[in-house]
Amino acid sequence: MSQRITILPENLTNKIAAGEVVERPSSVIKELVENSLDAGATDISVEIVSGGRRLIRVADNGYGMSREDALLSLERHATSKIKSDSDLDGILTLGFRGEALPSIASVSRFCLATREAGSPEGTEITVEGGRVRDVKACGMAPGTVISVEQIFFNIPARLKFMKSSETEAGHVGDVVARLAVSRPEAAFSCISDGREMLRVQRSDLQRRLSQVVGRDAASHLHKVDSCSENVTVSGFVSGPTLVRSGLQAMYTYINGRFVRDKVVQHAVMQAYRGVIDRGRYPVVALFIQLPAGEVDVNVHPTKHEVRFRRQSVVHDAIQGAVEEVLRLSPWLAGRPQLTPSPSLSPTAPTGQAYRERIAAAAQASLTMPRREQHHPQPSAPIRTVATSSEAALEAATVSEPAVPFKVEQGHPAAGYFSSLTVIGQFHSEYILCQSGADLVIIDQHAASERVAYQRLKQQCLAGGIESQRMLFPETVELSFSEVAVAGRFRHDLAGIGFELEPFGGNTLMVAAVPRLAAEKDPVRLVRDILADLAGLGTSAAFQDALDELLSRIACHSVVRGVHALEIRQMRELLHSMDETDFAASCPHGRPVSHVVTLAELEKIFKRT
Ligand code: ADP
Ligand code: MG
Repeated sequence: MSQRITILPENLTNKIAAGEVVERPSSVIKELVENSLDAGATDISVEIVSGGRRLIRVADNGYGMSREDALLSLERHATSKIKSDSDLDGILTLGFRGEALPSIASVSRFCLATREAGSPEGTEITVEGGRVRDVKACGMAPGTVISVEQIFFNIPARLKFMKSSETEAGHVGDVVARLAVSRPEAAFSCISDGREMLRVQRSDLQRRLSQVVGRDAASHLHKVDSCSENVTVSGFVSGPTLVRSGLQAMYTYINGRFVRDKVVQHAVMQAYRGVIDRGRYPVVALFIQLPAGEVDVNVHPTKHEVRFRRQSVVHDAIQGAVEEVLRLSPWLAGRPQLTPSPSLSPTAPTGQAYRERIAAAAQASLTMPRREQHHPQPSAPIRTVATSSEAALEAATVSEPAVPFKVEQGHPAAGYFSSLTVIGQFHSEYILCQSGADLVIIDQHAASERVAYQRLKQQCLAGGIESQRMLFPETVELSFSEVAVAGRFRHDLAGIGFELEPFGGNTLMVAAVPRLAAEKDPVRLVRDILADLAGLGTSAAFQDALDELLSRIACHSVVRGVHALEIRQMRELLHSMDETDFAASCPHGRPVSHVVTLAELEKIFKRT
């Protein structure tokens, strides 16, 4: 009989486990800071060098470890946080798997120094690629300091997946920010290559948010505090004027643990339905507390996903809590027509059928492709004016005309649009024109956008997009990853008219923007562009995405939604349409004009 199966040596199983828990420097920091918080630390400092490739150091003032515990903590499945089966049903700590330290130590040059408060000295353990090299006594303040040098030095394949120092540092900043929001009562600092990214003193949630998401953002937040069916939802949510183009400012926590949970996100987005535009996301810091037995955090090694025992109850509690605040807030108060969904009404029945529908919708959204959910393509331009809920409502209630008109075939002849006789404007959205026996209907928004897009394209070909320096440069507070993106693409962005200067921490200064879009909301444009760039790695990818970026700028340069025009302005638009190369395709691909022939009209009126 042959024996083909062997039990793997521990050093190898640790490396395998590291594959799941230790993806990049920011995941090491997440694990180490969570350990510090579990150890009751109230002061946590994070330091990285070269985005964490060269060095990651986390120091805390928690309760530390004895020499015996310190040695044990490096063994696989060694934890002080659970002891028996039954403990798994009521986890109150951030860790419990006993995997992080041995995993990290197996893929780096690792040093753990720790001292219990009552102990005269500390213990320092040095590990290299999972092998303990040295154990000695050391002098140090009570607490724990863990240093991780040369991460993945023994896994070259992993090393290749690491991004630039800037990008990795951006992720580290975001992870520390999330942890800092979860514990306002603890002080945090994060230093990258000697520069301070973040430093926050012990405070309360509101102050912590203003430090992490920005003072301006924090002043637009509304308090949430509600409890139903044993689910407590508290924290802050933004009004419709404070939105982001991605999920980066949605801080959601279950029992103190940051999660990116689909059910939670869906519940929040449902509450904002009809209040903010599609493809926009609110700024929220929501803390959901529920009995530990009601949530299973042992779903994924990183614990970002959870499973709820009563999914629809949790969903409804979150949605209800956020809606209650949105309904009472100034921009919605006294506008009964703004409660289009039964769920927005306080007296709405939330029966079983309704819950099931919501749960089904949440489930359905789980199967949506990620990119579509997080970064809606600009192919369906938002027709509402986002800064005014009134306009947003108005636009939302105007349905697209389901006209069986024929889309114009082929490319219009040169000078075609200028040759049209303008009849007038319909619904402040369409320009009606006559051309011989044809009625020509022009979507003014689509047309202006396409003109702007073509102009930008021409400028690009001629050497660069015209930029306009801001008279009063504005600052914009972003996520750390977005700031890293701005740095990475600094030169490419300059080529399309943006000058964005680092302004410390997660803030950028907008010094210049493309001239065409300078009149509108430059900060919002910068946010959108950086969100578009988030997934791109290289300048080549930037060039590939150029069309999309230009159409994003074009989209920002035109007035959205309904907009009354004078005949003169309509004529100007028609002229511009002839001046730009309308034959070229636009990434939006939306038709700009429709033609209704006299014959078609006569048929409708049964004249033929
Ligand atoms: P887990 O957190 O899942 O228990 P880890 O491998 O992250 O597993 O840590 C193992 C153990 O080491 C923890 O259970 C804890 O007892 C101890 N430990 C880790 N980091 C610290 C720290 N910063 N301060 C005190 N004890 C720590
Ligand atoms: Mg841990």
